[in-house]
Amino acid sequence: MAMFPHISLIFLSSIVSIATSYTVLILIEYISRRKKAIHSRSKVLAILALGSGFFGMQVIGILTFAAEYRFTPRFELLALGLVTACLLAAYIVKIIPKGIGSRSEMTKRIILSAFLVKAVHFLGLSGILSVRFSAISASYYLLSAIMVLGVTYFGFRFVQQSNAKQVTERQRLINAAIMGAVLTLLHYTSTNTFYSNMALPPVVGDGLWVISTAVFVALIVSLLLVFAANLALVDLHALETETGLLQQVKASENRFRTLAYTDQLTGVPNRHWFFAHLREVLDSADGNLKTIGVVLLDFDDFKSINELIGQDGGDEFLKKIVERLKAVLPESITLARLSGDEFIFAVENAKKADLEQLCQNILLVAEEPVHIGERSVSSGVSLGISCQEVRELNEENLIKQADLALFMAKSAGKESYRFFSPELLDSSIRKQEITSALQQALVNGEFSVHYQPQIELVSGRVIGFEALLRWNSTLGAVPPSEFIPVAEECGAIHSIGEWVLREACQQLKAWRKEGRPDVHVSVNVSAKQFLDPKFAEKVSSILIATDVPARCVEIEITESVMIDLDTAAGLVEELQDIGVKLAIDDFGTGYSSLNAVKNIQIDTLKIDKSLVDEVLGSDRSMAILATIIELGKNLGADVVVEGLETLEQVNLMKQYEIIGQGYYFSRPLPADKAVRVWDKYLEQPDGLFHAPILY
Ligand code: C2E
Ligand code: MG
Ligand code: MG
Repeated sequence: MAMFPHISLIFLSSIVSIATSYTVLILIEYISRRKKAIHSRSKVLAILALGSGFFGMQVIGILTFAAEYRFTPRFELLALGLVTACLLAAYIVKIIPKGIGSRSEMTKRIILSAFLVKAVHFLGLSGILSVRFSAISASYYLLSAIMVLGVTYFGFRFVQQSNAKQVTERQRLINAAIMGAVLTLLHYTSTNTFYSNMALPPVVGDGLWVISTAVFVALIVSLLLVFAANLALVDLHALETETGLLQQVKASENRFRTLAYTDQLTGVPNRHWFFAHLREVLDSADGNLKTIGVVLLDFDDFKSINELIGQDGGDEFLKKIVERLKAVLPESITLARLSGDEFIFAVENAKKADLEQLCQNILLVAEEPVHIGERSVSSGVSLGISCQEVRELNEENLIKQADLALFMAKSAGKESYRFFSPELLDSSIRKQEITSALQQALVNGEFSVHYQPQIELVSGRVIGFEALLRWNSTLGAVPPSEFIPVAEECGAIHSIGEWVLREACQQLKAWRKEGRPDVHVSVNVSAKQFLDPKFAEKVSSILIATDVPARCVEIEITESVMIDLDTAAGLVEELQDIGVKLAIDDFGTGYSSLNAVKNIQIDTLKIDKSLVDEVLGSDRSMAILATIIELGKNLGADVVVEGLETLEQVNLMKQYEIIGQGYYFSRPLPADKAVRVWDKYLEQPDGLFHAPILY
């Protein structure tokens, strides 16, 4: 017997189906976005609403067919159907947040959901129309089962797609309508499979009560659905606001982070960024990161640039030079500003040779002048590098070591780079020891002056003595080559230098008082001391205090004082006004020796030992030395050759009618011993060639 669905109930079941689909979509969206944060009560409500939605949809659908027949509902089966529908809902709620999963997972889910769908359907049918299992047509059942599988599959895909993007309300409604329609269609196809060979009771009445029951079920179900959907929608809205707020907070946090991590002047990251970055690199270091190199960069003359072109000009200079440095560094390396004119960068998996190349490139670009307005200024840089194996370093040490290396690069004459090494640490410790020992050296009377005679080679006459400082310290005898640079750095050179000059002048005065022949004393003066604007004044007051004629005192300077020629020329003039003599020491060792003698009037040219050493056996060296001697003479200066150690050297130099100084004649000696050497020369002028060497 053919069965035809009641038309008004078809409409009603379609509405319930669409409403259920709509709620399903909202709940799915809600569950997948809220994930674990859903309260268990909301979950239960969602399951109940969905379960009753599924089941109500079935019941109304079945009633649609049953409107014109008499039947006795079996409530225990209907209750079981409702429970099964809730189980189906619970299963869906459980798997939605997990996403679609693997192929086998998906197959498992589809089969289980399809089975539950069919079970709900069968229980609904049995509960209302007392359908027995035997009444089912196998072929129709198989067909409907395949359809359910297909629909479940597309249902999952559909859910997955709508999960991936934010859905608008309109889209959600369209989706719900499609889903609802498909479900309704499926239901009627599916239900038909049961009726092909069913014998139903005769018609009784107009079936109004069936329609009323269906409407009642629809009402209850709709109420539940609306309630659940509404709760989910309200919470989703709150979630959206919350997400929006969170995004805003995150954006301002990011803005703040960028500000806090960026140097406002140059736009490169600042020290906070660098430390955080380094920490991060070290923390996340896996087996691939073996070494880290940190390079610290400091401008040598930034202070003078600021003085020359003002603070704003200095800022402009930094901005421009930073661009230049960035261009030299590979993209993977980020330059950061540590402070004032100090910059830093880290190199992962650094090799010594690469770091060296990088530093050389930086030295080159830093040398080129920068144009600021009308002026062009330049400042060399010094670089300190620390390169360590990742497994044995911490970032604080890394930076400290680079800092020490930078310090050593600066001490070694700037515009250079140094790698940190344990020896460097030793020398820095030694330097610190010397620095602190120097503070007390004068007060403790640890200094003394030794005198080395200067001999006129032709006559064998002693014409002067060079005063050389000696320090017998708590650290033992420290040579001047070691402690003078430290004294220059810590500023102690001013008081020490003054003491040497006074001491030498007092000694000269004592010799003069004893009636000894007229000689001069040469006193070494370091660049720092010489460039002190009060230097000439100090010299003058010492001369007055010791009552020594200015012409008997010679100040030995090196070409390094000529870096700032204008200042140097002024100071030289002041000294010449006083009447002291001026000698250029260690001539021939630097690059700008000629520049030094070209610009100032000097009294003595002291040729460095290194030039004399090469003379024997080398005609070229001899030619150079002869030219320098000639140059000195042409400038009207006395020429002294330092470091004469052998008779052969002395004989060779004698022909040039110059002055000699060196161990051959005498080592630098304390005044009393120096006088004995001097006396020998007075006794036998020809003693020049048989000089007694006293130690
Ligand atoms: P300098 O002014 O060139 O002094 C000459 C150096 O050569 C002295 O070394 C002297 O002992 C050494 N010398 C002299 N003849 C010979 C020789 O035949 N063979 C060899 N191998 N060496 C010879 P010293 O005394 O160790 O001084 C080293 C440097 O320290 C000096 O070089 C000078 O630049 C600096 N210095 C010494 N005393 C003072 C001082 O009172 N003030 C300042 N600012 N610097 C000083
Ligand atoms: Mg000297
Ligand atoms: Mg010298």
